Amino acid sequence: MSSNSNSGPWDMIVVGAGTTGLPAATMAAQRGGRVLLVEVAEKIGGTLLVSFGQMSAAGTRLQAEKGIEDSPEKHLEEVMRISRGTIDPVLARLSIFNAADAFDWMMELGFDVQDQCPSIESAHERYEVARYYWGNDFGKSVLDVLEPAMREQEALGCIKVLTGTRVTGLMQDRDGIVNGVELIDGEGRESSAAGKNVVLTSGGYAANPVMFRRLCGYKLYLNGAYEFAQGDGYDLAVAAGGYLRGRDKYLSNFGWLLEDGPYPKSMLGRANTYPEARLPWEIYVNAHGQRFVREDEPSIDVREHALLDQPELRYWIVFDDSIFRQAPPIVYDWSREQMAEAFNTCEVFRRADSLESLAEDIGVPGGALAKTVAEFNAGVAQGRDALGRSHMPVSIDTPPFYAIRQQGGSVSSTVGVAVNESLQVVRPDGAAIPGLYAAGEILGSGQLQGNAFVGGMMVMPCIVFGRLLGQRLVEF
Ligand SMILES: Cc1cc2nc3c(=O)[nH]c(=O)nc-3n(C[C@H](O)[C@H](O)[C@H](O)COP(=O)(O)OP(=O)(O)OC[C@H]3O[C@@H](n4cnc5c(N)ncnc54)[C@H](O)[C@@H]3O)c2cc1C
Repeated sequence: MSSNSNSGPWDMIVVGAGTTGLPAATMAAQRGGRVLLVEVAEKIGGTLLVSFGQMSAAGTRLQAEKGIEDSPEKHLEEVMRISRGTIDPVLARLSIFNAADAFDWMMELGFDVQDQCPSIESAHERYEVARYYWGNDFGKSVLDVLEPAMREQEALGCIKVLTGTRVTGLMQDRDGIVNGVELIDGEGRESSAAGKNVVLTSGGYAANPVMFRRLCGYKLYLNGAYEFAQGDGYDLAVAAGGYLRGRDKYLSNFGWLLEDGPYPKSMLGRANTYPEARLPWEIYVNAHGQRFVREDEPSIDVREHALLDQPELRYWIVFDDSIFRQAPPIVYDWSREQMAEAFNTCEVFRRADSLESLAEDIGVPGGALAKTVAEFNAGVAQGRDALGRSHMPVSIDTPPFYAIRQQGGSVSSTVGVAVNESLQVVRPDGAAIPGLYAAGEILGSGQLQGNAFVGGMMVMPCIVFGRLLGQRLVEF
């Protein structure tokens, strides 16, 4: 390590200039702190560059203006209901009770919120109250307010931004107090920076297939996370004495259509498996050739948890020619002609003249698939489905037969660094590591959402916790 130093000591060193790091640095600088903001990528923004950026906050001014009655208490109650009590109650409370302040601040900065917000609409289990917000340019709309606020402080000389620079280590004194970071720039030059409060806002590990598999036990199926979400902060926290939690909270979404090729794969398209948007005509069949959930199950959370029990988080959408001709195309934004073409060209689209050859083609037991379809057809004839499905317009008996492969997975990190209510990184015995804090996706969806996808409970806690750290750590 060279002795080259970045003119510390800093009042705060922020590792990662993304969703959490930007507001952390801004707030600390606004309070008069000298902040070093280190970013491995050449540009700032982190996951906001790819995220939908949907947020939830209760008790906001925008809700009041639109006559929506809401409160953090109600939000917390709903988050507990949706996560079945598996969310970290301390972090949930800290986020939810400070979310309105953070969202109102974003609105003051000019956040370009979509007209229909606050909304009840969500890709996840719905809230009962309209408290869901997103920008016209999704995650980039969030960045459009966070970046100028940070740049203003940079222009005033309160923040020094180092892009293209990776934090590779933490400095700790003999008493274990974290008092700086080790850095390497794009040209391989090493340096260090000393400072009082080191804040790990370096995001998750969902672009790192090896770490993903090691930490949550599943392959990284989709190439959908921000490329610099490599989990560096996890290694830094653990090396300083911290530990990880939340592995048991892994949840897969209900599937994507993926491109051909090795994992992680890019997304080819998305099947509309949302019964509220398109009632299912098809059946969903697992690797054993069996149905595993009623396809019109209204709860997305129930569907997602059902998929979690299936081998390789995978299933086939199976249908026949009569469904192909009559039903609205199942792939979002695809015409019937595009679908027909996909059966000639794509690995995940399969067609066969009989159920037996379809089964062989997709690698499920032939007898089982035929039996599953026969049972479904009997249910259609009797108007009573074994899994309780109510939308069964036609039976599946007109060749050719079709199957489309859906792959579950997640684009965020379940496992997270353990922290206390002040966001200090803690050791396994609960003792805080002095000088070291963590916030954002590095805390893991297991802590921020529990074993459910809770609408807006990643981006909003990032911004809230970033702000709180910036406000609380720098005393002036
Ligand atoms: C496609 C997609 C859609 C999503 N949609 C939503 C949504 O609608 N609502 C929601 O709540 N959540 C959503 N999420 C999740 C949410 O966007 C993220 O959890 C959140 O933005 C992460 O913020 P962060 O600050 O923790 O990390 P980031 O915003 O990724 O910031 C971390 C920064 O640290 C940098 N960094 C990493 N390692 C180092 C290092 N060693 N040294 C220096 N810098 C480093 C990275 O380059 C990055 O800029 C989505 C995620 C994805 C991928």
